[in-house]
Amino acid sequence: MSATNDLPLAGRMMQMPLLISGLLTHAARHHGRTEVVSRRCEGDTHRTTWAGIEQRARQLAQALAALGTQPGDRIGTLAWNSHRHLEIYYAVSGSQRICHTINPRLFPEQIAWIVNDAADQVLCFDLTFLPLVEKLAPLLKTVRHLVLMTDRAHMPAQTSLPNLLCFDELVDAHDGDWHWPEFDENSASSICYTSGTTGHPKGAVYSHRSTVLHAMGAALPDAMGCSTGDVILPVVPMFHVNAWGLPYASALVGAKLVFPGPHLDGASVHTLMEEEGVTFSAGVPTIWLGLLNHVKAKGLGFSTFRRTVIGGSACPPAMMRAFEEHGVRVIHAWGMTEMSPLGTLASLSAAQRQLPVDEQRRILEKQGRVIYGVDMTIVGDNGERQPWDGHTTGDLLVRGHWVIERYFGRDESPLREVDGQAWFPTGDVATIDADCTMQIADRSKDVIKSGGEWISSIELENIAMSHPDVAEAAAIACAHPKWDERPLLVAVRKPGTGVTREALLAHYVGRIAKWQVPDDVVFVDELPHTATGKLLKTKLREQFKGHVLPGV
Ligand code: ADP
Repeated sequence: MSATNDLPLAGRMMQMPLLISGLLTHAARHHGRTEVVSRRCEGDTHRTTWAGIEQRARQLAQALAALGTQPGDRIGTLAWNSHRHLEIYYAVSGSQRICHTINPRLFPEQIAWIVNDAADQVLCFDLTFLPLVEKLAPLLKTVRHLVLMTDRAHMPAQTSLPNLLCFDELVDAHDGDWHWPEFDENSASSICYTSGTTGHPKGAVYSHRSTVLHAMGAALPDAMGCSTGDVILPVVPMFHVNAWGLPYASALVGAKLVFPGPHLDGASVHTLMEEEGVTFSAGVPTIWLGLLNHVKAKGLGFSTFRRTVIGGSACPPAMMRAFEEHGVRVIHAWGMTEMSPLGTLASLSAAQRQLPVDEQRRILEKQGRVIYGVDMTIVGDNGERQPWDGHTTGDLLVRGHWVIERYFGRDESPLREVDGQAWFPTGDVATIDADCTMQIADRSKDVIKSGGEWISSIELENIAMSHPDVAEAAAIACAHPKWDERPLLVAVRKPGTGVTREALLAHYVGRIAKWQVPDDVVFVDELPHTATGKLLKTKLREQFKGHVLPGV
């Protein structure tokens, strides 16, 4: 909030900080009876309401103070999506502490590094992660309290952890007679570390202001289009960039929230969707493979599920078609940890709604247009802006209300200057067309450079996955004496199918320029993934470093 006395004429409006607690009090007051349902680690289903969450979040805020933590302290979580995790989100940020969600799928040494880097004072974790935390505990330098997110009945009889606290007991020990404080909206609210596929992970520190503005942007009709009539199932974990803002956007619009806990297999997700009347969900492509396979194998459908946001890596068009056949609209989204994470979502302009269905599909397969609050540009090697013609590629840069300025604990600025403005370099290579729709060609480090020309690995993967026998595919660069790099496709067959190398290569004919067709195909049983479910291309490149392409 700036001083107003220097202004030619100050607006005569209230100064009301954008605070995360405001989202929760709004939901509790205006949508208090709307449910929050969770499948729990304990095995049962838990039901509460937005009013119930707000009450318990106040009690938890009292408990955090009683533990001796202060505003500004970091509180870590190793937890699935659940009502308790939601209570932590709001109690921690709402009391001006900082919620640090940690990805439990990282290596234990990496987790310890992250907890120490963030200097977490308290670590709250689910029952699933008790063995992990027992292993981590000796490595944690700043954690003063370990809290198991369960009730007294499920506390372990034996553990190597000293003074292990019980989450429900901590909460129940307080009465909630406490008020959400008002403070500067630029205060830090949460931290999320990038997955650190190269080097140490880096922390993105979000503010209350950025989080609330991001939630408003996310909920817009041409973005996620969330409404009070929705039943929202965040399949994307709350440790993956705050479940893409859904815990906040749901409170903002007063939607019912459904949490899957640790049960993310296709059968569990489908049952939960049907039982709770889920209308809307969000997740990375790999998680949806399981659901689609289950639905297909059992001949099932969806009674209420109507739209899903898919992002985190490129959504293959074949996956969009599969959902479409079940009456589910896929909203393709692009973003990153450093952007809270939403940048663009695919949508049709009024004019595009008049186009034939096939053309509309091609637009919706791209990563989409920015939400108000984010701006983007593409630049060439010399930093000059590239035309928005739909085929010239450039490095994608962004700026906006929910884009980071620098990383946690680092002084150096990651920003780049273009035409006198500061921009964040995304590390992605993209095109933007005349209708302002962006399409990711690749991550700059994954792009395949053949004879000076770029080949999009995403395009090669999408074509492979449009073959009925292919479950998953990755295109990587392979060294070539003449062309420098040539594409190699590494593919996983669907169970019980037998597509050959030749048949898969023939599938490219007519779908892509001849010189872009992969030089070779290798079938494997499984592809390596990162902790957030993305293809781990660094590992694949390592694995196939010595691969000799035919004719070389
Ligand atoms: P990390 O960088 O730690 O892997 P992020 O979730 O921040 O985790 O990843 C952001 C990156 O994921 C983007 O820069 C982009 O390369 C990729 N990405 C995200 N969404 C999409 C999408 N819809 N299509 C293609 N790539 C995507």
